[in-house]
Amino acid sequence: MELRHLKDLKLAGKKVFLRLDLNVPIKNGKITDETRILEALPTVEYILQHTNKLAIASHLGRPEPGTEKKYTLEPVGVRLAELLKKEVLLVADYTQEPVEHVMNQLSPNQVVLLENLRFHEGETKNDINFARHLMSGFDFYVDDAFGCVHRAHASVVACAELVRPESRASGFLIEKEIKFLDRIRTHPQAPYTVVMGGAKVSDKMAVMLSLLDKCNHLIIGGAMAYTFLKFQGKAVGQSKIEADKMDLVSTIYKNAEQRRVQIHLPVDHVCAATFDEKATPTVVDAQDIPAGLMGLDIGPKTAAQYAAIIEKSKTVFWNGPMGVFEFDTFAKGTLAIANAMAKCGGLTVIGGGDSVAAANKAGVAKDIDHISTGGGASIEYLEGKILPGIRVLLKN
Ligand code: AMP
Repeated sequence: MELRHLKDLKLAGKKVFLRLDLNVPIKNGKITDETRILEALPTVEYILQHTNKLAIASHLGRPEPGTEKKYTLEPVGVRLAELLKKEVLLVADYTQEPVEHVMNQLSPNQVVLLENLRFHEGETKNDINFARHLMSGFDFYVDDAFGCVHRAHASVVACAELVRPESRASGFLIEKEIKFLDRIRTHPQAPYTVVMGGAKVSDKMAVMLSLLDKCNHLIIGGAMAYTFLKFQGKAVGQSKIEADKMDLVSTIYKNAEQRRVQIHLPVDHVCAATFDEKATPTVVDAQDIPAGLMGLDIGPKTAAQYAAIIEKSKTVFWNGPMGVFEFDTFAKGTLAIANAMAKCGGLTVIGGGDSVAAANKAGVAKDIDHISTGGGASIEYLEGKILPGIRVLLKN
C-alpha cells in the first residue's frame, strides 16, 4: 500500500484544492486549541512555496445544513492569516459563486479558505454535484485531513475522484500518521502492549480483536473494565456495564487464549457512591466492588501494575481513559498511564480522543512518539480497513 506523495506533484503555477481538518475547538469566537492548524502548516507552506493558487477546505463541528454562525471558519481564517502572513479570503458560498472565479483573480499574497463544508448537505452525502462545485478549475487534489479519512464525504472522496489519480496526493500529516500506524499494524516489536479504556466494549470491539493478533498484553481500564470483571464473576456494584455484551467479552477471551495474549484487569478501584465531580473518592482494595459503589477510576495498585508493564514494553498503543478523567478526583489512573508511556523507551502511540487530552494534561505529550490527530480514523485504520479517504490516494 503506497500513497501518492505531495512531493510528486508538479505544483508550479497550478491550482490546488487542499482538504484539511481544521475542526478546532472554538469558544466565544476564540480558538481554544490550535493543534490541528499547526499540524497542517507544513503541507500548506510546502504548497505555497511552489504555487500561489491554493484553496483550503475544512469542516467545523456538526452544523445542520445551512449557515449556523457559530460554526463559521472565520476565526480559523484569521489565525491562518497570522501564521502564513498572507491574506486569507473566506469564500462564503461556493455553490453560488464558483471558486474558480475567485481563484482566477487571486493575487500572490492571498489564499482562499472555503467556508465550513458541512453548511452544505452534499458534503456528508458524498454528493458528486457538490464536489463539482468545489473542484471546478482545480488541477490538483491534496488531502491532509487525517481525522476525516474514515468518512466517505464529498471533500474526502468525490472531490478526489474528479481528478486523475496522478493529480491527487496525501499531505505530510497523513503520511506521518500512516507511517506510525503501519509500524503498529504490520511489525510491532515485542513485547507489545495495547491499553484500552473508555466507555464501551462494543465501541472498541473490532479494533481490540484486530490488535489481539499482534499484541502480547491487553490492558483494560475505564468503564469497559467492569463489563470484563462482571464476565469473570466479580461484583461490580453500581459500575457502568454493558450487561448485554458478555458475548463480545467471551470472544475477546477466546481470541486472546488462542494467541497467548495476557489480558490485565484492574485489581483495585477508586469508587464513589454517585457519578459526580464532587463525589468522595473511596479506594476499594479488591477486585470486587461493594454494592452501592461504582468504579470511576483504576486504583493505585492497578495503576502501578499497568505502568510497570507499559514501561517494559517495546511497543505501546493506547486508546481511551482509565476512568472518568474529566473529574480531577478520578483522573489519576489515566494520568499514570500517560506518564508510564512517556517513560517507556519503546515506540509509543496514542490513538486520538480523550487519551490525547490526558497526555496534554499530564504534560507528557512531547515524550510520546506519535499522537494521532484522528481518534476514529486511527482506530478504523488499525482494524485493518482500507479507509475511503486513503483508498483514493493510493498509487495502485
Ligand atoms: P471513549 O470515547 O469510549 O474512549 O470513552 C471515554 C469516556 O468514558 C469518558 O468520557 C470517560 O469519562 C468515560 N469513562 C471512563 N471510565 C469510566 C467509568 N469508570 N465510568 C463511567 N464512565 C467512564
